[in-house]
This record gives sequence, C-alpha cells and structure tokens, in this order.
Amino acid sequence: MSPDTIVLARTVHTLDAAHPAVTAVAVEAGLITAVGDAADARDWAGPGTETIDLGDAVLVPGLVDGHSHPAFGLELSEGVDLSDVQDLDGLRAALARAERLDGWLLAWNLDHNVFGDRPVHRALIEDVLGPDVPAFIRLYDGHSALATGAALRAAGITGARRFAQRATVVCDPDGTPTGHLIEFAAMDLVASVMPSRPLAERRDALHALLLDMAAGGLAGAHVMDAGGDILDLVRAIEADRPLPLRLRIAPWCMPGASAADLRRLADLQGESGRNWLVGGVKLFMDGTVEGGSAWLERPDCHGEGTAALWLDPAEYTDVVRQLDAYGVRTATHAIGDAGVRHVLDTIAGLPYTARGRHRIEHIETLGDEQAMRFAELGVHASMQPTHSAYTRADHTDAWSTRLGVERAERAWICRTLRDSGATLALGSDWPIAHHDPRGVLAYAQLRRHAGSDTPPVAPQQALTPLMALEGYTTHAARAAGEFDRTGRIAPGLRADLTAFALDPLTAPADEFATTAVPLTMSGGVVTNRQV
Ligand SMILES: [Zn+2]
Repeated sequence: MSPDTIVLARTVHTLDAAHPAVTAVAVEAGLITAVGDAADARDWAGPGTETIDLGDAVLVPGLVDGHSHPAFGLELSEGVDLSDVQDLDGLRAALARAERLDGWLLAWNLDHNVFGDRPVHRALIEDVLGPDVPAFIRLYDGHSALATGAALRAAGITGARRFAQRATVVCDPDGTPTGHLIEFAAMDLVASVMPSRPLAERRDALHALLLDMAAGGLAGAHVMDAGGDILDLVRAIEADRPLPLRLRIAPWCMPGASAADLRRLADLQGESGRNWLVGGVKLFMDGTVEGGSAWLERPDCHGEGTAALWLDPAEYTDVVRQLDAYGVRTATHAIGDAGVRHVLDTIAGLPYTARGRHRIEHIETLGDEQAMRFAELGVHASMQPTHSAYTRADHTDAWSTRLGVERAERAWICRTLRDSGATLALGSDWPIAHHDPRGVLAYAQLRRHAGSDTPPVAPQQALTPLMALEGYTTHAARAAGEFDRTGRIAPGLRADLTAFALDPLTAPADEFATTAVPLTMSGGVVTNRQV
C-alpha cells in the first residue's frame, strides 16, 4: 500500500519528542503512516500518491479550537453584528437600519459598555423601532439579551419568573420587565418563539463557516454544545461531502437534569460520523462577570456575583459524580473564582484516576491558590485569551469595574496555569470572539490584538509562542483525552495538519496573525489549500 498523500515542508514542528526533525509526512486512510525526509518520501510514493510540496511553509499538527459553538453560534449570531457599536447613539442608529427576519429584528455581539452606567433597558431603544417590532439583541457574552416589549409579548413574558436554575427576567420596581434577560433559561423564553431558517439553509451555513475556519488553519474544534440541531446538521453535511473540521461535541447538562437525563447523556457518548463524535458533557457552574452572574468569592461592585447557576451547588457535585461514574468526561463553564473553586472541590472528591477526565472552561479571574490546584489534581484548563480584549488595561471597562482592581489584575491567568504545570487548551469560544486561530495564538503572546496599540491586559500572563501553539495542539488533545490519537505529527496519529507561511514559533506575533495558511488537513482530507 502506498500513501494517499505525502506532505513535504522544510520546517515541520511535530511537537513529538520521538520525531523532532522531519521534512516529510505520509498520510493514508486518514492517519499519519510515516514521517521522514525527502529521500524517505521518494521510497513511500506509489501510483496514485499525491505529493504536496509546501516549500518554505511551516507544518504543524492540525490546530484544534478548544472551545467553539459553530452551529449554536450561527443561531446566536443571527441578524445584525453590533460588535462595532461604541455607544447608545450608535446602537440606535444600527437598529434603525437593520434588516428583519420574518418581521423580527435579531442582533448580537452588543458590548455591555455601550450602556455606560445605565441599566440595560428596552426603553433606550424601543422608540427607534416602534412599539410593534419584536427585537432580540444578544449581549456579546452570550449569557444575556435585551428584548423589546413586542418580543416579550410574543413570548408571554409579563413579569418576573422562577426557574430551576439561576436566571432572571429583570423587572422595573413596578414589576414590568425591562427586557433584560439574564442566562439561558430566561433568554430561551423568547428564543423559542423566534423565527429560524430551514435546515438545508443552516446546513450550508454551517458548512461555509467550517470551511472558513479551516482556511484559518483549524482542523478541529471542541464543540461546547449540541444546540442549533448540530447533530442533524453534521449528518446532513456528511451525507454528501466531507465535514471540514473534526468536531468533538459536548451536549449540555443543565440544573434540574433527572437521572434519566444523565443516563441519556452517557448513552450518547461516542455516537459518531466520519469526522465528528459526541465526546463529553458541558455543564455551567456560573454565568458571566458582566451579567453579574459569575460566582465570586466576594460580591462585585453592584453587590452581585454571589451565587452559582445551580440553585444548590451540591447538586452540581452529585451530577458530576454520576457522570464520572458513567465514565463521561465533563467540561464545566466556571468564570468566577468561587465557581472555579467549587468545580475543583468537586473533582478533588472523585477517584484519583478519574480526575484527568475533567476540565474547566473560561477561568476569567482566579487567585494563585486555586490556580495551583489544576496541576495538582490533573484537571485541564481551557481558556480563550481574546475574551480579555473586552476589558481594558486601565480597568475602566464593565468587567473590571465590577471586579475591582485586585481581581481585575488576575485576568485570564494563562501563564500562571502553564508555569504551574497545568494543561491549557486554547480556543475562541466563537461566536463570542473570532475563530481565527492565528489571531488567538498572537493574542495569547501579546495580551492585545495583533497590530493594535491598545495597552496589553495583564501582560505578565502572556504565553510563549510554543505554549500558545501547544494550546491548540498537544494540550487541546490532552484536554479531550485524545493525546494518544491526535495533537502531534507522528505515525499512527490522525492526519490533522496545518501549514503556515510564517513560523508560529519564531515569527513576531503581530505578523503571524495575518500569515498565509497554505494547507489545512482534517483526518487526511484537504480542507484548505492555497498552494
Ligand atoms: Zn462557550
């Protein structure tokens, strides 16, 4: 048998100690079958072998975004992108000219800072839309939204509600909803009555998005939800074409889940297609700092942030114990320091050999004492460095103001975790931030966006170029329990490969962020080729 494909490159960072210096990689039936040099490659080649010569480009293991929401994100990013809106006037102008979907105005990516000191309130925007236009505007953190009166009416929301999990329909003192909906249970009331596009349209949109991700160098992603009908969509894509990224999908387990729900989540594990599988379960310990729903050791400046998403955090612990007993890997969203502590405490209570099955997502502010426990316990960290771009180094933004200087200085402690020996997977959390891994890799080193003169956020937390690359390769593989199958360039591993024109380990990060991506391969299939 001869390889399907041979890839040649003058520089190959295998990230595999056993194969430090190679310039040729053979791929067959989705796996790397051999590594060597140009002379080896001539021996491997047979009839039907395609050779891709990357010349001076640099080949690395295929990049994997450790936290992404491709299908759910398409739902979350339906409508007008408000990321460029700076203030209330800008918001009103953008809404006034926005297109509608079946009569609804949908928008997303709105920065809390736009409201300044004012509470998020529909009265600030309703007059530009008129009283009868249902509008649903998602804040950039994905955990809260602003709905107009017409949208509230469509969902039958007339006042405060009680939920099985922490979530709020914010009301004025007289009991009238302000339109601010905090956390999923509250947002879902409106989201469930909003118009959505037909499945075939969403299938093609997901496929196009994944191709765009592949063009930036992504070979895979850890998908932190099974929303947006993603299982139906990936099946529909694979019915007639390759899935451009290998998707590892973790469905949600929300507060109130029954024993039967947990069993069902366990049974779903390992369900798979050619380039996707269900792997792990995603839980939420808390919400977001900006929404006042992160679980903090001390309240924020508004007296908020004192509670978990679970009305009783002990129930979270019971659920993780049960999932672990089923052998399920968990990934828990925990942003506040008390939230992270509770997850670590929960995992510390599991059998020693099971702890490495679990990971914590986001970790936005954390003191050293808890940070050290990741490596001690073998718990994996998964972080999204570019989220800190929503904060400012001078602490005048909404996130920092809520936390105060001391906690704002402990922002996204990537370097502390790496130096302590923890696994640190990196990602974008698209659509919360851009999915392009080049930008995230650069940001992780610069603590600001590449090419910008914004002062860096907590620059002492910058990663080295190697640590950043490992976050998308070897450490992403460890966090998913797939280190023996992917994340490096070595025989027997999945043929996930990415090539960059500039070397991610030596190029200045500002330049690397816009470097060309000549090749991306996911499971042996070329998903992006510019050579
Ligand atoms: Zn997320």
